[in-house]
Amino acid sequence: LSPVPSDIEISRAQTPKAVDILAKEIGLLADEIEIYGKSKAKVRLSLLERLKDQADGKYVLVAGITPTPLGEGKSTVTIGLVQALTAHLNINSFACLRQPSQGPTFGVKGGAAGGGYAQVIPMEEFNLHLTGDIHAITAANNLLAAAIDTRILHENTQTDKALYNRLVASVNGVREFSKIQLARLKKLGINKTDPSALTEEEMRKFARLDIDPSTITWQRVMDTNDRFLRKVTIGQGNTEKGYSRQAQFDIAVASEVMAVLALTDSLTDMKERLGRMVVASDRNGQPVTAGDLGVTGALTVLMKDAIKPNLMQTLEGTPVFVHAGPFANIAHGNSSVLADKIALKLVGEEGYVVTEAGFGADIGMEKFFNIKCRASGLVPSVVVLVATVRALKMHGGGPSVTAGVPLKKEYTEENLQLVADGCCNLEKQIQIAQLFGVPVVVALNVFKTDTRAEIDLVCELAKRAGAFNAVPCYHWSIGGKGSVDLAQAVREAASKKSHFQFLYDVQLPIVEKIRTIAQAVYGAEDIELSPEAQSKIDRYTEQGFGNLPICMAKTHLSLSHQPDKKGVPKDFILPISDVRASIGAGFIYPLVGTMSTMPGLPTRPCFYDIDLDTETEQVKGLF
Ligand code: ADP
Repeated sequence: LSPVPSDIEISRAQTPKAVDILAKEIGLLADEIEIYGKSKAKVRLSLLERLKDQADGKYVLVAGITPTPLGEGKSTVTIGLVQALTAHLNINSFACLRQPSQGPTFGVKGGAAGGGYAQVIPMEEFNLHLTGDIHAITAANNLLAAAIDTRILHENTQTDKALYNRLVASVNGVREFSKIQLARLKKLGINKTDPSALTEEEMRKFARLDIDPSTITWQRVMDTNDRFLRKVTIGQGNTEKGYSRQAQFDIAVASEVMAVLALTDSLTDMKERLGRMVVASDRNGQPVTAGDLGVTGALTVLMKDAIKPNLMQTLEGTPVFVHAGPFANIAHGNSSVLADKIALKLVGEEGYVVTEAGFGADIGMEKFFNIKCRASGLVPSVVVLVATVRALKMHGGGPSVTAGVPLKKEYTEENLQLVADGCCNLEKQIQIAQLFGVPVVVALNVFKTDTRAEIDLVCELAKRAGAFNAVPCYHWSIGGKGSVDLAQAVREAASKKSHFQFLYDVQLPIVEKIRTIAQAVYGAEDIELSPEAQSKIDRYTEQGFGNLPICMAKTHLSLSHQPDKKGVPKDFILPISDVRASIGAGFIYPLVGTMSTMPGLPTRPCFYDIDLDTETEQVKGLF
């Protein structure tokens, strides 16, 4: 239709096929799915065992140039591409997407189900609670947070003996250690299984974690942009007086539990990762883990359903997995390894799995390769790099682009000079993808104000910059058939041999790995560590965590740390203000400049437009 109706109108105009029919079409057995409502199902991990001898399909990553705050259409391209492959070229394909956080949905950016005629449906279910995975993450995260502070309180208010007696439960009158407690005893070098056999000293060692409150790195989370929770004081009740401390809330999708969900490949592995999560140090500088707090089993129980990928469909009835949703600027920004692994089996050797990495290639794609592919062992065949004329004009010196403010005329009228000048960002992002040895296809996501000359210019400059191919895409206005050229270009690129390589060796010292990313990817001259960052690096190295990959927390609005520096910023030193460790997820997490792990709401948030028609129960105003 022209003009293209709103995302929610398009979504609602299409009736999704029943999810059990979809499941059957893609070869799932009846007992391999758990249906939630009519159009969503969780897929059981037993599928991986059944299909273990099936060859994997081709693995395609959708990344982007440095975006405007409005987003340049990576989700839309991802969906348009699978619609083109499956519904128009009859090739098996799967899209694997992140589940959106309610922060942006009710805040600045809105939903993330794609847009126009390239969407996941029903988009309100996709954008809101889905099957409750983010709620499960919040519950698990906060149970662990409660366990930390409560343990400190109890250790301080009880004698060694009383604490020990309470920690060792009595089952039917028989006192015995739980499995988790036995594991902790082993870690302490105490090889005893009978609780009454421990000496006073062993009892003390077992019962006291001696957490140093000033080293606690585990925060509480919630999935709302609530800036007033960025700094809070906890423990103000009469019963906790004396144990107050400054703490903070992060957005739920920044929780390490989310990263664990995104990177794990089985229930057993998830349980081990959850147990390994480091929450603080003890007074001797040793790491204290979720396992030490005895909470591993409970966390795994809370996460046992969240680990199963969620099956949905595109507007054209092709399959989609929606699973895990870490932000790309403050977390690793990629959907789950498990969804990709299952989808790669389901599409078969000739098929395609298209997955998306958040924000620009400097952010989500770098982490996709260095963190996600390292964890999964999967090798990507092609990178699709999404560009828009509007973002290129912004990089070429166009006026700033702000959500909710109409675009200035530079963006709505032809301006070849701004486009040509802004292509430096596209060129740099192509070069970043090439560092990893994977062919790049540029997808120019066409908006109705783009002119033929602008489109041709971008495609020409992209090819000159080393892209394997560059094609305009029209899926937003006409659906999958508008991305058939992109699908053909991706197929051609995927037939080439991939020379995939990681950017750095994980065995390098932490500082060297950070410097490599800063220089090779962002184009920084060097890095500058704050004293805080240096002491954390020293502590993590001493604790034996020096050999993990790096997950940079950096603004997505510039290649540098300064959001207003567009194009390809030069001559800058990247400031590392702090460093954190996500040991269960398996990465070290440096903060570049001031990065908030809890977004705020704007003056006119998206929630102003969101409403429910109480007669029809239809959601209005989501986009
Ligand atoms: P990203 O995944 O890069 O953040 P999205 O795919 O979510 O971006 O798109 C951002 C917004 O822009 C969505 O609301 C989408 O509907 C809209 N959009 C994307 N492509 C187009 C297009 N070609 N024309 C008009 N609007 C578009």
